[in-house]
Amino acid sequence: YGDASQKIDYVFKVVLIGDSAVGKSQILARFARNEFSLDSKATIGVEFQTRTLVIQHKSVKAQIWDTAGQERYRAVTSAYYRGAVGAMLVYDITKRQTFEHIPRWLEELRAHADKNIVIILIGNKTDLENLRVVPTEDAKEFAEKEGLFFMETSALEATNVETAFVTVLTEIFNIVN
Ligand code: GDP
Ligand code: MG
Repeated sequence: YGDASQKIDYVFKVVLIGDSAVGKSQILARFARNEFSLDSKATIGVEFQTRTLVIQHKSVKAQIWDTAGQERYRAVTSAYYRGAVGAMLVYDITKRQTFEHIPRWLEELRAHADKNIVIILIGNKTDLENLRVVPTEDAKEFAEKEGLFFMETSALEATNVETAFVTVLTEIFNIVN
């Protein structure tokens, strides 16, 4: 994880969006600090966390923004999206409604963010497979139709979290290079 002495070639702002309790803050905790908490409190205060990684021999500082309990419809301000080059659109595979709200989040994102923003759709909590209500195929189909990357993750088991971030950051890297 990040080496403070290292020279930074790029800083990429990535925003996390999606309904409350889908696991956005835990996905971020897993990526930024390799931590997870089952009784995570509603996010307060912290605007973003960073982690520096190396992509094609360049050091890339990922600055990941987490909603501070602004998940109500239209409560996320345009300042949150400003300057974002990547977005992670998260739903919970065990809560149908969180997937049904994805088009709404996408609309918000497209209204506020740069039109070239790289977006990944993330179905979180795959460790709860027995409680799954959103089939992988439904989400994959939606992502293809909308031109989004797609991945299923478990912040708890650390499945695909790293891969999801690396996918977004590498795509952004390739766009700017
Ligand atoms: P947020 O409101 O989207 O930021 O959601 P949180 O990150 O606060 O997570 C909401 C709840 O879901 C917390 O109790 C987390 O511990 C739990 N959670 C988050 N990710 C996972 C996961 O991958 N698997 C399971 N089983 N629980 C998770
Ligand atoms: Mg949160």
